[in-house]
This record gives sequence, C-alpha cells and structure tokens, in this order.
Amino acid sequence: MNPRLLFWIPAGLRLSIVLAGAAVFWYLFGMFAGVVAVIAGLLILLIVQLHYLFQLSQWLEDPNSAKLPDGWGAWTDIFSRLYRMRRGDEKNQAELTEWLTRFRQAMSLLPDGVVIMDDVLFLEWCNPAAEKHLGLQLDRDKGMRVTNLVRTPEFMDYIILGRYDEPLTIGFKDRKLVVQIIPFENRRQILVTHDITDAERIDMMRRDFIANASHELRTPLTVINGFLEIATSQPNLDPQTRMSHLKLMSEQGQRMQNLVEDMLTLTRLESVDYPLRPEKVNIRMLLEQIEQEAVALSAGRHTISLQLGGPDLKGGTEELRSAFGNLVTNAIRYTPQGGKIDISWEDKDSGPQFVVRDNGIGIRPEHIARLTERFYRVDKGRSRETQGTGLGLAIVKHVLLRHDATLVIESEPEQGSTFIVKFSRKLVAES
Ligand code: ADP
Repeated sequence: MNPRLLFWIPAGLRLSIVLAGAAVFWYLFGMFAGVVAVIAGLLILLIVQLHYLFQLSQWLEDPNSAKLPDGWGAWTDIFSRLYRMRRGDEKNQAELTEWLTRFRQAMSLLPDGVVIMDDVLFLEWCNPAAEKHLGLQLDRDKGMRVTNLVRTPEFMDYIILGRYDEPLTIGFKDRKLVVQIIPFENRRQILVTHDITDAERIDMMRRDFIANASHELRTPLTVINGFLEIATSQPNLDPQTRMSHLKLMSEQGQRMQNLVEDMLTLTRLESVDYPLRPEKVNIRMLLEQIEQEAVALSAGRHTISLQLGGPDLKGGTEELRSAFGNLVTNAIRYTPQGGKIDISWEDKDSGPQFVVRDNGIGIRPEHIARLTERFYRVDKGRSRETQGTGLGLAIVKHVLLRHDATLVIESEPEQGSTFIVKFSRKLVAES
C-alpha cells in the first residue's frame, strides 16, 4: 500500500471518531455539549500532535543521542521510517569510512607519490611517498600552490606548456624523480611521482664499471699489440730483446686474466642466482693455507706471523678465502721489503674477527672511505706494478656483505694499516 495512505487513514479515522463522539454528545446532551466535545476532542488531538512534533524536533537536533519514541497512530509509521532511514545512513557512512581507511592505507603503502590538486594546482591531499619525494608536509602545505612548493625550472616549464601526456624527469633536492600530471574530474589534477634515484645510480655505476673495465683492459692489450707489431715488422730482432718483449707480453696477459677473473668473481657475488650456501669453515686450515701463499708471494721480503684464537665459522669457504687472501696479499704488496705482517683470528665479545696488520706505506684518511669502490686506487702506478686489479677490496666488501660482517680500516701514512673484519656471534659454528 502507498505509505502516504498509512498516514492519512489513521489521521482521518481519528478525526472521524472525534466528530462521531461529538455527534453522540449533541444528540444526548444538546448542541452546547456537542460543540464542547468537538473542541475538547480536537484539542486533545492537537496536544498529542504538538507533543510528537516537539519530540521529533528534539531528535532532529541530535539524531545520534536520543532514540525516537514509538509514537502513536500515524507517528508510529513516521518515526519508524525515519529510524530506518537513519540506520541506512549510518550503514552507508560506516561503509564509506571503511573504504576511505582502506584507500588511505593503500595509498600510504604505495612507493610512488600521489598528490591531488585542484584545477589551479592548490594542494588538497598527498600520500607519504609524495611527502618524501617532494619534501611536502600535508598538514603544513595543504592549500598552498604546488608550484610554490616544487620550485624547479623544468617543473615550471612543464606546467606552463601543459604537455601532460608525457612524464617529466626532474632533479629535485638530492633525488631524481619522474613526475606526471594527470587531469581528472573537471577541476582536479593528480601529480604522480616516481623516485628513480637508485635506479639511476645503479645505471651510472654500471656505465662507470664498463668504462673502467674497458680502460683497464685496453692498456695491457695496447702493450701486447705493440709488441706483436714489432715482432711482425722486425722479424730479425735479437733473441734477448725478443725474450724481454715476450716476458712483458706475458705479464700483460696475466694482468688481463687477473682482471677478468676478479670481474667474474664480483659478478658472481652480486648475482641473485648465486646465493651463499653456508657450510662449516675450518678457519685454522684456511688461514694456514693463506699464510703459506703469503710466504710464497713475499719471497722472504717480509716477516709474516699467524695467530689463531677464534672459533670456526659458518659461511662460504671459497668466498672467505678470497676475502682474507685479498687483505693479506694487499698487506704484502703495500709493505716495503723488511716489513712485518701480522695475521690473527681473534675471539671478541661481539664475535670473532680477522685482523691483518702491516707496517707498510699506510693510507691517507681521505682515501679510506672510498677504498672498497671498484677500481679505486690511492696510487695507480704502485697498484699496477704489483699486478693489482683495483677490484680486491670491492670483492672483500661483497663477501663481507654476504656474511653480515663489517670491515674496519685503520691506517696512518708511512706507519702501516690494519684491516679488521668483524663477524657476528651468530656465525660461529657449533663444534
Ligand atoms: P688493488 O688491486 O689496487 O690493490 P684493492 O681494491 O685491493 O685494489 O685496493 C684498493 C687500494 O687500497 C689500493 O690501490 C691501495 O692504494 C689501497 N690499499 C689496500 N690495501 C692496502 C694496504 N694494506 N696498505 C696500503 N694501501 C692499501
């Protein structure tokens, strides 16, 4: 039935009852009594209506606090319908709040920045990634013009030209960002930011590595080619010169081989397809072998000592051999004849540590932080003279990264250097 009828039928019914009652009074007690009965009946009806109207207006003031009365007659229906509408509203509101919370959560997890602006670029909302990328603070910057907050000439030009179908790469503070404006609705625009600082840095490192590696390989190749040219253009070279050329060529060939091997080792250490497979490493055996190799390399020019006091480790034997071996080889290469090299494996409270101490040429403080960079050398000439590839400490760094270990370098020019590799106690192997 039409709900309006539900209202009008009881209301009409009540009026009919009042009028019928008044007619009965009129008939029984005369006209005056009938009129009084009509007025009294209407008055009662009016008071009831006013009472419910008052309750309704009170409820409308604060629909959350009070409950609606049950009502009487048509009011029952009005109140119950209002109540149902309110419940529906509450449900919609709760759904909306839930959606909003979920949307905010998703937005705050997004690695890309999202800024919502109005048509004249005033900031309305942004997610935490956008705050980080663009140095914004939503509560502080809300309502400010985005061009006043992101002040780079490229971004200004982008806004002025309005070619939003293409993204734009900008350098902002110490970051490299790809930004794009996407107009939406009639009067809103979204600014999306994507941080490419790391990708760009890796790309640059890769380019530098290729350039450096090519340069490193070109030098020995040029020497070998030079001697080969001499050999073909001067077939009657005396045997002594020929021998010395062959010796130099073989040295350069060895240098190229060392370089390629170190590059392959580094690539392997960085590769995700080559995860560390920890095994029990017999440190005593490993370090005794390294010491023997050191003695052979030094050929009696240095005093070499080994002290073993720490426990065995869990790790990659070959990787640790390569890292420890590089540190010991460096100590020999950068310590003049007559120098002293102490190798020790110690047990400290924080965990075991490998220490190589020499009294060689030492390193000036400004170089220390950069030593583990690929191809970084303090003295290029000396490194080459001793068959260095410039990759030894980069390999050490990568091996240590895979073992959660840290490298500490202490050095004083002309006094010597100490390289300490600190392992965590977690890596100690059970005996
Ligand atoms: P390289 O093949 O040139 O030795 P590394 O990566 O092993 O390359 O070492 C980087 C640089 O660190 C070396 O060129 C050298 O200048 C310096 N260095 C490494 N170990 C020592 C040391 N024990 N004493 C002095 N300088 C060292």
